[in-house]
Amino acid sequence: EPMIPVVAIVGRPNVGKSTLFNRLTRTRQALVDDRPGVTRDRHYGVARDGDFEILLIDTGGFEPDPDDKLFISVREQAELAIQEADLILFVVDQQAGRTPTDDQTAAVLRKAASKNEKNPPVLLIVNKCDNDQAEVNAADFWGLGLDNMLCISAEHGRGAFDLWSTIADHLPEQTGVEESEDE
Ligand code: GDP
Ligand code: MG
Repeated sequence: EPMIPVVAIVGRPNVGKSTLFNRLTRTRQALVDDRPGVTRDRHYGVARDGDFEILLIDTGGFEPDPDDKLFISVREQAELAIQEADLILFVVDQQAGRTPTDDQTAAVLRKAASKNEKNPPVLLIVNKCDNDQAEVNAADFWGLGLDNMLCISAEHGRGAFDLWSTIADHLPEQTGVEESEDE
C-alpha cells in the first residue's frame, strides 16, 4: 500500500489552483484558464521535491453556474479535501483581495477540520504575489484566522522553495529520505 501523502488544493475559481498543480507536478495536466470554473474534474498527480513525494489533487470548479453555486461548490471541495487529504492547500488570490467566499471557506476548513479525526493541517497560500509589494498587500489574509500563511506566485515560481519545505514540515517524514541519509 503506498504511503504517499495526499495533498488537496482548494479555493474559489480563478485563484490559480491549476497553475499551482502544474508547477508542483511539473506538468501541464491541469487546464489553466482565465474563465472561472473551467476545470470540471479533479486532477491527481504525483509531485516531487527531491526524494519527497506527495499525491496532489487539484479540485476544480464543479459549479455549472458560477453565479449562484459558487459558495456551495467551494464548500463541497473543502469538505471532500478534509475527508481525503493529509494536508490542504487553501489558495486565495492576492490581486483579487480577500472575498466573502474566502472567509466562508476558511470558516468551513477551521470548523470541519477541528471535528475531523484526521484533522489535516491547512496551509493558506496567497497566490499571485508576483513582487514584494504584493506580499505587503497579502497581510490582509491573516484575518482569515489560519496559522500558516505563505505568499507565492504559482505562475512565476516565486516562493516554491518555502512552499515545499512547509509542506514537508506538516507531513510525516518519508522513509525514502531517511534511508538515503543513512547511506
Ligand atoms: P483555477 O481556476 O483556480 O484553477 O485558476 P487557474 O490556475 O486556471 O488560473 C487562473 C488565472 O490566473 C490564469 O489566467 C492564470 O494564468 C492566472 N494565474 C495563476 N497563477 C498566477 C500568478 O502567480 N500570478 C499571476 N499574475 N497570475 C496567475
Ligand atoms: Mg483550475
